[in-house]
This record gives sequence, structure tokens and C-alpha cells, in this order.
Amino acid sequence: MIDRNLQDIRQKITETAIQCGRDPATIRLVAVSKKFPASHIQEAIQAGQFLFGENYIQEASQKKTEIGDTASFHFIGHLQSNKAKLAAQIFEMIETIDRYKLAAALDKELKYLGKTLDVLVQVNIGQEPQKSGVLPQDTEELLKQLLLLSNLKVRGLMTIPPYSDNLEHTRPHFKALRLLAEEMQRKNYFSDNTCVELSMGMSSDYTVAIEEGATFIRIGSALFGHRLEK
Ligand SMILES: *Cc1c(COP(=O)(O)O)cnc(C)c1O
Repeated sequence: MIDRNLQDIRQKITETAIQCGRDPATIRLVAVSKKFPASHIQEAIQAGQFLFGENYIQEASQKKTEIGDTASFHFIGHLQSNKAKLAAQIFEMIETIDRYKLAAALDKELKYLGKTLDVLVQVNIGQEPQKSGVLPQDTEELLKQLLLLSNLKVRGLMTIPPYSDNLEHTRPHFKALRLLAEEMQRKNYFSDNTCVELSMGMSSDYTVAIEEGATFIRIGSALFGHRLEK
């Protein structure tokens, strides 16, 4: 089942990329395994998927212990500053930096650990009051502050757009994130301004996200099936 879903998704990624003139290799799939057991991750690994996304620190930590180093994990949930230490140890990338205090806590832990960490800044592109993420108009100021934290490597931007069942209503939000990233890139705020990452697109809208420039797409239910919400 997971094997089959993964093949379908990979094929769709390739087709969509080619249709809009992009190299399929520039789009990486983050398999969102939150609320699914480690056995599902193992199954995906068997099928050739080695990058996963997790939303909860404790859950991710347990699964990582079970799975070992064959897979890498991105953190894509809301992170509290007091969990920075564990997060700094477990993840290859944290996609959800949205405030300086959290970034500074991570940077401090990374200095103790003697390592750097790739991060993305999460932008609340639709300016929704209930959502995490820095507001578009405050993004430059946050990026400016992050330049001071030398153990964090800011690779790009991430977003979760406002929900809509009409993909053409979602598209302008993806485009807005890309335009914001391009503006920040011109001003040299990223740790590598020749290669800026855009994490956007989930099960229902990843093809549109690819058309608008996504380099990471985060897919859960289309790969692993329906989640039992807590
Ligand atoms: C759960 C989650 C996803 C995956 O959502 P699906 O609709 O199941 O593909 C992607 N990104 C984030 C931030 C999530 O929390």
C-alpha cells in the first residue's frame, strides 16, 4: 500500500515538474509520518523513501530510536523553546522557525553540541490569526535577527496556506511565498543565496505548489492513509 502510494506520488511529482519546465530532482518529498507508527516509516524506507516529517518532539524521538540512522527527519510542527535541546539533536532540519526567542534557544543548544542546523522560517502567508508563522511583513526583520545566530543555517521559507478546496485559491499564497523568498534572496538573507528552499504543498495541493516553485513538499495522508486525530 505505502509502496504503491509512493510510486504514484513520485510519478505525479515527475510529471508535474516536467510539465512546468522544472527538473524533478529539485523537488524533494518529505513523508509526513506524524501519528503513524515506526513500522509505517520502515515500510516507506523499504520502498526507497528516506526523508520524513514529524510534528511532535517526543513522538519523533521515540521513532528515531526505533529506526536508527537510515532515515532523516524534518521537524514541521510548532516548537516550544524549552524543547530546543532535544530538537537540535534529532532533526536534520527544522522548518518552523517563526520567532527570535526560539531561534536563539536552538542556536545556544547547537553551540553546546558543536554543530550547525539547517532551518526554514515559517511564514503565515494568509495572515490567519490562529496560525503559527511570522507575518509576511515581519519576515525581513526576523531574517535580519537570525543572521546573528551563527549555528543556524537559514535555507529558505515554509508555509501552510489558508485551507481551501479550490486549488486556484491556494495558488496565490504559494506564489506570494515564492515572491517573498525571492525578495529576501536578493537582499542576501539566506545562508546560501544561490539555492533557496521553499517548503509548501501537502497531499491535496502539492502539484500546484510544484508549479509555483516548491522544493520540499510535505505529504502525509496521500502516502500513509487517513490519520486518527488526537
Ligand atoms: C500534517 C502536516 C502535513 C501533511 O498533511 P497531509 O494533508 O496529510 O498531506 C504537511 N505539513 C504540515 C506542517 C503538517 O502538519
